[in-house]
Order: sequence, then C-alpha cells, then structure tokens
Amino acid sequence: MRLPLSIQCCLLWLFFTSPGVLHAQDQTSKQVPGTPPNIVFFIVDDLGWQDTALSLHQESAPFQQHYRTPNLQRLAREGLVFSNAYASSPVCTPTRTSIMTGRSPQANGITYWILHKDRDTGGPRDGTVTPRWNVNGLQPGDVTLPGILQKGGYRTIHAGKAHLGAHGSDGADPKNLGFEVNIAGHAAGAPSDFRGRRNYSRDPENPGAKVWDVPGLEKYHGTDTYLTEALALEAATAIHQAHQDGKSFFLHFSPYAVHTPIIANQRHLENYPDLSKVEAAYATMIESVDEALGVLLKTLEKLEILDETFIVFTSDNGGLSAHTREKPHHRHNHPLSSGKGSALEGGTRIPLVMHWPGVIEGGARSSLPVISHDHFPTLLSIAGLVGPADHMEQVEGQDLTPLFESGTDPEWQERALYWHMPHFWGPRGPGIQPFSSIRRGDWKMIYYHHPKPKRVLYNLAEDIGEKRDLAAEKKKLLELLSKDLADHLRKTAAAMPSRDGQTIPMPDQLSGSTEN
Ligand code: CA
Repeated sequence: MRLPLSIQCCLLWLFFTSPGVLHAQDQTSKQVPGTPPNIVFFIVDDLGWQDTALSLHQESAPFQQHYRTPNLQRLAREGLVFSNAYASSPVCTPTRTSIMTGRSPQANGITYWILHKDRDTGGPRDGTVTPRWNVNGLQPGDVTLPGILQKGGYRTIHAGKAHLGAHGSDGADPKNLGFEVNIAGHAAGAPSDFRGRRNYSRDPENPGAKVWDVPGLEKYHGTDTYLTEALALEAATAIHQAHQDGKSFFLHFSPYAVHTPIIANQRHLENYPDLSKVEAAYATMIESVDEALGVLLKTLEKLEILDETFIVFTSDNGGLSAHTREKPHHRHNHPLSSGKGSALEGGTRIPLVMHWPGVIEGGARSSLPVISHDHFPTLLSIAGLVGPADHMEQVEGQDLTPLFESGTDPEWQERALYWHMPHFWGPRGPGIQPFSSIRRGDWKMIYYHHPKPKRVLYNLAEDIGEKRDLAAEKKKLLELLSKDLADHLRKTAAAMPSRDGQTIPMPDQLSGSTEN
C-alpha cells in the first residue's frame, strides 16, 4: 500500500536533512516538502481517440495495431484512463484556449482557430455567414491557467505549439500569457517542417521567413533532430533548471505532432514496413510523441520527483481523417465517425490519461464524460490555487480530483457537455458543418446550422458510430435537449451564423418550416 503523498514528502524531508546524505539531496530532490506538486500537461496535436496502442473500445481503429506507445501504456497501467474524454472543440485554438481559461470556446468567444491579427481564418460559404468571433485569441490581461500558477509561485514552462494568440498581437508570445519560459511556441498551429536538417522551416535558407516556421531551436538547425525530439530535450532541460532553482513547475508540453505536415521521423520508419508511406510516417510521429513522453518520465525519475508530479496526457481534438491520410477518408477513427473538424465523435473524442503515484491508484478507469476545460479547475485544485473571483464564477469546467479516490461518484456525473463551432472547417465531410451540440448521459444531439437548421439525435451507448438518427422517434427527448442546449448557448452569449440576413434560430425556437 502506498503512503499518502504528504507522508512521503515528510519522509523524503527527513531523509534529505540527515547530515550523511546531504550530497544525495544535491543530486536528487531539492523540492521543499509542502510545496505544491509539479504538473506536466502533455497535449498532443490532433491525436485521435485510438491513435495509440491504448485500447479504448473493443473495435480497433484501422492502423491501431501498428502504433507503438509503450510510455503511454505505462502511464495507463499506473494511472487513470478516461474512455469518454472530449476536446472542447473539434479544432485546435478553441480547445487550447478553453484549457487556459476554464470556460467553453463559446464563452471565450474563441470558436475557431487563429493565425493573423484581426483576420478571420474562416468565412461564409454557400449562403451561410459565420458570426464575428475573437479572431485574435488570448491576450495579455486575460486570466489564464499559467498566469495564476505563475503568481502562485510556479515556474511556468511552455514547449511546442502554442496557437493561443494571433500573429502580430501580443498574445502570440506565450510569455505574455503567463508562461515564464517559452520553447518554440508562437501563433502558428503547425510547423513548416519537422526536420532539423531543414531548420524546421519552409525555406531552410531563410528560417523564420514564413509564419509557420518554428521559432527558436536554432541549436538544432542543420542536425538530424526531429522537432518532437528537440522539444523533449529542451523541456527536460527546463525541468532540471526549475528543480535546481527549487521551484515547482507547470510544464505545458505541446508537441507540434501529430498535426500536418505528415513527415516521417526516419529513425522509426523501419518499424512500419507494412504501412503505406503516409501511414508509416504518421505512425513514426506517434512513436516520436511517445518517446518524448519517455524522455520526460526519465527526467522526473532521475530527479526522483515522479511521485511529486501530476501528469496529464491528452489531445486537443480528434484525429485527422478528412485529407492527407490514406484513403478512404473519414474512417481513421473507427468505430467513431469522421474526425478533426467534425461534430461527430471522431471530431471531439480524445485520449485522456492522468498519472500521480500515491494519489491515483494504478489501473483506474472512468467512463464519465469529461471535457478539456475541466483541466483548468482540476490543475488549480491540485496546485491549491484559485484565480480572481470574477473569473472563477465563469469557469464551466469541473474539478476532476474527486475521481482520484476510487469509488467516489461526483455529484455532477449527470451533467451535460456542450459544443459550439459556428464555422466551416476547410475540408468537407460527415459532420463538418457549423454546429452546436449537447451530450447528456448516453444521448447526444447535434444541431447543424447549415444548409438549413437540423437536429439529429444519437444514443452513444448503442451507436457510438452515430449511424442511426433517432430524432423522429424521440420527439420529447429532442425538445428537452434542445431547451438544455439553447439555455447554455444563451448563458454563454454564443454567437450564431446567419442566412439571408436572418440569424439562425436557437435550437428550441425551430418551427416545422425552418427544419428540414
Ligand atoms: Ca489540433
């Protein structure tokens, strides 16, 4: 049986204060007992629900048997695995900024991905006009998770993709949003290249000339260091530094992988002889991410602070399936339908594993639906910190720490989850339309805004692939969920698209003539 963390810390303190082992203290744990735990928040980009060797359903995704993720599987064995975890949005920035604020994308007004200051990356299509939204993303002065942690004494470290504030605005630099250290993060949501030989740039002769070129990391230019590897090495150095300085740290580790461009890490290619070129490259990106997780775990173990570190492993939206991947498209997240950008489960369902030796029992599993903006109150709870009262009142996420004690049923397990993306993602495919949606219990209703308002209803317990629309059979339930979703949209002042000069009605205001 493991000792409670507070007792472990005391024993550690006694050990390190014995005169004979002072040298050991210098070499290993310098963390002062009673200081808050370290946090490693590992958020992979576009990693699908079953894009790892971790099996979350009896049916596998098409290439899942090939994926090599031993470090994640270790986390899962020793930690808590969620099978109904969701991203706050089917695309990057809204989920990432929701983690930063604890509010839903619709409440943040950041409902699509950002790039350039004052420029909308989306726009109207086929007669439907998308609403105004906060195209600049987070900016200095916004209350953020790292900002609160930094004020609370944490060393706040960002590594990799930020994509939180627009290029040309102050929010592009994570250091203006509460991070003390920024490793290679800026406005762009993808790298020009993953290869050190190409300086992580579109034009290796002019690194930094393009908005997608990865900033910093010059010391790896011209080397064979794959981007994910460079980020892991730099993050490990930052962990060492924080430890050396006696600081608890919050590491927001956000590899640009496995987002496009899909470029192989040559070191791992030989592991995938049976896959097509693109799927083999994708598999090496997944393996590289897992390897980065391994570097961080090893660093924590070497410093003897793994037990004092809370680790989250997750993704920011569902797996890419609409383009670039091997055909047929929209099926890579099987048994889920569609993928990134979609209102369907493939767009938002993501892996989530939490790890904290001595606090979370190994092998724990939860099927409770949870969502990315839950991480904000959860991490603050773990750090023992709160944000400004007026912000905390707006937090929609739930503190997940009650789930760490097995057998505890939180009161909010019947709560609903809501999504709202009133924009057209670039590619076309199933569920890739402007939409709002709700999940309550096993039921999920999607309200498509385009081309005409339309509601569909699925029972996820029986139909995880969302193939059988039960809206016509379950009229009463449809109206209840419509009212629930509409109340949420009004409460969060969610912006709706318009058509023919008319704002698309709330889902509880549909009449027979407006829904087809
Ligand atoms: Ca993403």
